[in-house]
Amino acid sequence: MAGCDDTSGGGDSRPSTPPPTGSASPESPGTDVPDDTEEAVNETREDSVYPEVGDPLVDALHYDLALAWTPESDTLVATERLTFRATADADRVQLDFDDALAIETLTVDGVDTAYDRADKDLVVRHAVEANEEYLLEMTYSGTPQPFDAPTQRSDFRLGVGWHVTPEHEVWTIQEPYGAFTWYAVNDQPADKAFYDFTLTVPEPWTGVANGELTDTTVDSGLRTSTWHLAEPASSYLVTVAFADYTPTELQSSRGIPITIWGPTDDPEAIGETEYAGEAMDWLEQYLGPYPFDTFGILIYDGESGMETQTMVTLGATPYATSRAVVIHELAHHWYGDTVTPADWSDVWMNEGMAMYLQGMWEAEEEGITIDQKMDDWALFEGDERDYAGPPGDYDPTNFGSGNIYFGPALMWHELRQRLGDDVFFGLLRDWPADQENDTADRVEYLAWIEQETGEELSDFFDAWLLSPTTPPRD
Ligand SMILES: [Zn+2]
Repeated sequence: MAGCDDTSGGGDSRPSTPPPTGSASPESPGTDVPDDTEEAVNETREDSVYPEVGDPLVDALHYDLALAWTPESDTLVATERLTFRATADADRVQLDFDDALAIETLTVDGVDTAYDRADKDLVVRHAVEANEEYLLEMTYSGTPQPFDAPTQRSDFRLGVGWHVTPEHEVWTIQEPYGAFTWYAVNDQPADKAFYDFTLTVPEPWTGVANGELTDTTVDSGLRTSTWHLAEPASSYLVTVAFADYTPTELQSSRGIPITIWGPTDDPEAIGETEYAGEAMDWLEQYLGPYPFDTFGILIYDGESGMETQTMVTLGATPYATSRAVVIHELAHHWYGDTVTPADWSDVWMNEGMAMYLQGMWEAEEEGITIDQKMDDWALFEGDERDYAGPPGDYDPTNFGSGNIYFGPALMWHELRQRLGDDVFFGLLRDWPADQENDTADRVEYLAWIEQETGEELSDFFDAWLLSPTTPPRD
């Protein structure tokens, strides 16, 4: 997630166009479960910060989502096919799914199944056995409602999850949770799964999602686009949007295809995002090869920025579409997307490194040293801890505040000075490569760093992650 930028104003300058007409109904999901779901088998857990979201009994392997959006009536009509593994024996299964949406049919392995709903909890009365796989199929409809975000950030004042703009466009941002506002999900980051999307909307609008656009058809005025995400993703890294988009095709020096999905009626709204190819080149010199096959950016009518996997979601503001934010969200593809925190207490693992890399890039652009950049950030780092707590033990009602960004970035710089550039940048490259498509917590990460360096660093990390004040800097 981009650092909060409360000075950007976030004014809505987009011209208003009437939504297309025609009622969209979902295509049947045509995609079979990938043969190899092994990579989506995870060690699930109850989140230590947001234990009310997610259930460790469920290990989702594949979500196949057919979503039809009718802008005229703000109606979503959907079919979901969820393949999951049970992690224990139980007589029922709980998923996160907001009761703003009405369920029409629900089956498990083809059999009609009873269920109970309360707010965002969907309890499916089907007995499961440990390590067995099940297919839950559900049809549902309604107007998804965003959910209150556990943060005071101004760019999250509209909440998390599915959002409908005044022009009836759709965008989704859902960190630390909120995917449950539009599909039934184990909405906790330790559970990664494969995704396929079949998105239908009246033309000329297009549905955009994570992964690769594999097909587009137009029938009776409805455009259907299919998207396949070839690597498993946590639910907070999923994105879906519907609007009148025009794609711009680019590529990195190594030939990674990059697509910018900008609003047709406002070509300027893509800002500086065409920098993405050069940004990838710049990051690869420090982090090694980009860990996915494709990259994209979708622009939405809002003001935040989110590292949604292989399809970054950026608000149409000068700040959110700046080169610095492109660097930041792309850096998350190594730190956050291929290796993902297993628990929300470790979101500093994402933001500290993305911010440090952004700081290195900014220092280079500004013609100052990285030491000068860190000195600038150190001036207010203590205030961030005061406001939202230490980066590794933050106030759960202040998710995504500056404390998880700047302190951990300063920490990485201190570690770099202690270890030297060769060792430090070796760690930066090796960790995401070692953890490809996996999740980890601080216990695993910090033990790995100590093992790689032969240094005893627990006091160092404790001070930076858990102290209420900024630790002494060299
Ligand atoms: Zn971020």
